[in-house]
Amino acid sequence: MGDKASDCVKVAIRCRPPSTKEINNGEESIVEMTEAFGEEGEAGQVVLSDPNAHDEPGKFAFDIVFGLSVAQSQIYESVGRPALQKTFEGYNGTIFAYGQTGSGKSFTMTGAAGDLRGIIPRVNEELFAQIAEKQSSSTCRFLVMCSFFEIYNEIIFDLLNPVADRTKLGGGLQIKEHPVMGIYVKDLTEIVAEDVGKVETLLENGNKSRAVSSTLMNSVSSRSHSIFTIKIHQKDEEDTSRNVFAKLNLVDLAGSERQKGTGASGQTLKEGANINKSLSALGNVINALVETANGKKVFIPYRNSKLTRVLQESLGGNSLCTMLATLSPAACNYEETMSTLRYANRAK
Ligand code: ADP
Repeated sequence: MGDKASDCVKVAIRCRPPSTKEINNGEESIVEMTEAFGEEGEAGQVVLSDPNAHDEPGKFAFDIVFGLSVAQSQIYESVGRPALQKTFEGYNGTIFAYGQTGSGKSFTMTGAAGDLRGIIPRVNEELFAQIAEKQSSSTCRFLVMCSFFEIYNEIIFDLLNPVADRTKLGGGLQIKEHPVMGIYVKDLTEIVAEDVGKVETLLENGNKSRAVSSTLMNSVSSRSHSIFTIKIHQKDEEDTSRNVFAKLNLVDLAGSERQKGTGASGQTLKEGANINKSLSALGNVINALVETANGKKVFIPYRNSKLTRVLQESLGGNSLCTMLATLSPAACNYEETMSTLRYANRAK
């Protein structure tokens, strides 16, 4: 791990199918893809055409490219399963969904029922299936702990212990550093999960806390980063020196679209500035990690946003960071799609 850039940062692109509205509006599809699912030797490509033909088509190469008919199960195989595997091996990991609002971030991370289950529910199921198998065939014992929080406007909110009135919370939860435990969010709720059902309940409750506030503050969920963390503690009943901690963060980022200037009140402008700031801080950190893995000595600017600071220990070192960028195929989203592809391209 950590020898090559591709060992520490993975980039995947997913384009969703055109929506009914886009089809009814006669929107042209401007994204063409050569698919690749992350197998050795495969090369994926994304070609984005300018609907006004002012610019040459943008061509981008990525290791993992998912076209519009790729099933949720395949996304899990290429992105979710490898990340969970690393966590069992004792390495921290993070999967980010990045893209404009409506491009498929939460469909990819959470999804819907049945075969449309996204990465998070599938990770949850395999987590406990593997634990059951390992516990029945070895002396390994596991403890799973979960936390779920949101960063909105550079303020951290606990989704598992929500406050009734966020305006009374002041600066929100604080990030601290402990000499042994490392970086943590002070007073963040951590709940022990014994089975799949418990994690499902936590997710449901946490998502409700997000939804409640969205009626108060205009669609908060697309303007905040949500971070669901699964921490796995492994012990061996026979070999007590074996004590492994690792965590996997599953992150649905705030919409990456440029915030419209016109009509935006002070609050909305500040939100927009904070979203742009934290997404560019994340891009800068990932870029620096890739350069470091390529042998350059560069400073990694973790402290420029709450998001990168809180995830610091799950981004650098031996961690596996996956950036999954979601695209809309529609001509009307050309500018945003180009900006998403450029962002993802910097992370390679
Ligand atoms: P975001 O989280 O980026 O704002 P959503 O995940 O809510 O976007 O997706 C917007 C809409 O598109 C939803 O109705 C979702 O069900 C649908 N959608 C997104 N990606 C896909 C996909 N790959 N296949 C089918 N429908 C999708």
